[in-house]
Amino acid sequence: MDLKSVIRTIPDYPKPGIMFRDITTLLTDARGFRRAVDELVQPLAGAKIDKVAGIEARGFILGGAIAHQLSVGFVPIRKKGKLPFETIGETYDLEYGTDEVEIHTDAIEKGERILLVDDLIATGGTAGAAIKLIERAGGVVALCSFVVDLPDLGGAEKLRAQGMNVTALVEYE
Ligand code: 5GP
Repeated sequence: MDLKSVIRTIPDYPKPGIMFRDITTLLTDARGFRRAVDELVQPLAGAKIDKVAGIEARGFILGGAIAHQLSVGFVPIRKKGKLPFETIGETYDLEYGTDEVEIHTDAIEKGERILLVDDLIATGGTAGAAIKLIERAGGVVALCSFVVDLPDLGGAEKLRAQGMNVTALVEYE
């Protein structure tokens, strides 16, 4: 099955000119969800991963399923103000303004190898901030995994240029 057949495109969301790649239809489809998780896990055979970190909110759904499959723990990376314990935060640039993501200070032990998961990479701003958080928390980012890459926006390329391993299952121009 082709994963693209279960990813829905919504024109002009959240604003005019944006083609939003909606993966909720992939999650609703039993075979699509299973296929996406299997394809994200497959390249990790034999790799040492200590924990999966997922970015709010769709990265929680995919990252949780992957962590379960790998039998490792899950670390939530959340929007500012949502995590209850002591946190560290990283701000990143949006088209207009900035946003901030946070991680619990005790979520990762020094030297742990982390798989970072989100549904989609566009400019790489969100994933870049998440990588900084994982590293500041003491972790090593072993791999960044996404279902969708939008290569025209250059995020995956930027992360690779920083020495990151990046995989994505499908691309949209
Ligand atoms: P970036 O920071 O790489 O520019 O944007 C990626 C973040 O925005 C991800 O957390 C992703 O969930 C969200 N995002 C941006 N565009 C889309 C899109 O077209 N579809 C989905 N599902 N998420 C998007």
